[in-house]
Amino acid sequence: MISTDDFKARRSLLAATFEPNKLDSLLVTALPNIRYLSGFTGSNGILCITPSESVLFTDPRYAVQSALEVSCKVKTIAGPLLPAIARHIKSRKLRNIGFEQTRISFNSYNFLRENLPLGAVLLPQQDLIESLRMVKSPAEIDCIRRAVRTNSKAFQKALHFVRPGVTESALAAEIDYYMRRYGATGPAFETIVASGQRAALPHARPSSHSVASNQLLLIDMGAVQDGYSSDMTRTVFLGMPAPKWKKAYNAVLEAQLAAISAVRQGVRADKPDLAARKVLKKSGLDRAFTHSTGHGLGLEIHEPPRVGRKEKTILQAGMVITIEPGIYIEGEGGIRIEDTVLVTANGCEILTPTPKTLTII
Ligand code: ZN
Ligand code: ZN
Repeated sequence: MISTDDFKARRSLLAATFEPNKLDSLLVTALPNIRYLSGFTGSNGILCITPSESVLFTDPRYAVQSALEVSCKVKTIAGPLLPAIARHIKSRKLRNIGFEQTRISFNSYNFLRENLPLGAVLLPQQDLIESLRMVKSPAEIDCIRRAVRTNSKAFQKALHFVRPGVTESALAAEIDYYMRRYGATGPAFETIVASGQRAALPHARPSSHSVASNQLLLIDMGAVQDGYSSDMTRTVFLGMPAPKWKKAYNAVLEAQLAAISAVRQGVRADKPDLAARKVLKKSGLDRAFTHSTGHGLGLEIHEPPRVGRKEKTILQAGMVITIEPGIYIEGEGGIRIEDTVLVTANGCEILTPTPKTLTII
């Protein structure tokens, strides 16, 4: 569990970035960032942070819930929140107000700008909170471990339902059901179940297409538990794979293991990506690897750092990232293998317990 003190400490750390950024306050509009800084899990809120005070604005639906979850001041507003924010800016005499430039609508921005007191300005900010979120605390890592375990348990269970004739949608439904049964609050994203040729679409939606013998089956799934996400992909075969696909599977697995070996505190986030591409090049499959090697995850399924080409972020112990190389051949199929891993001082810990050896059902 994340404690009240943790939320307070996070707000202080954030407020320490205000002076160098020439801010006296920050309006936090992204719900995952609001949750990170206050503990609030509702769907409507704006958090106004100054070095001396934090106030969460929400609506009466969350009056009881916010009192239970949030340690800072809460103002419950009937109706739209923005007029109350404008009044708050006036009453606290805020002048240099930061806002999350990628997390606010054009309409909201315009409303605030038009209602600012004389002399006050809105200053766009990017990734102020996201960069704090990159390195996870031990309590956050525990949440992710739980999400990862639930994910793997549900996958294991769902494998029992894999047989020729079952539809991708039915399999996805079993996966989602067991994730919840085993403790998840829901899937971290729409579960991907893609069989045969459809596995060539990296983000295929489960369809009414039936799984058939002698085809491969790609499953990409994530569980949310205590607010934190897991992410895992496995590709399994129904019946003996053709030698070409067996070879491709081993190449992707070798690439994934090479990328994992490159993960360590102090290395640039493009190093694991380079390692994976180098392996795939040996089998002429590097051009079939069309996305980046991985991404950070936590309160959101995709968050910084990105693990990809030209990525300059330096990996630090406590970051949790995915390693997920894949190859996709149009009209034929695709293979991806993905684990959730924790960056450590000497390397990394693979959190995902599900085996990766070629599985034939
Ligand atoms: Zn995934
Ligand atoms: Zn992923």
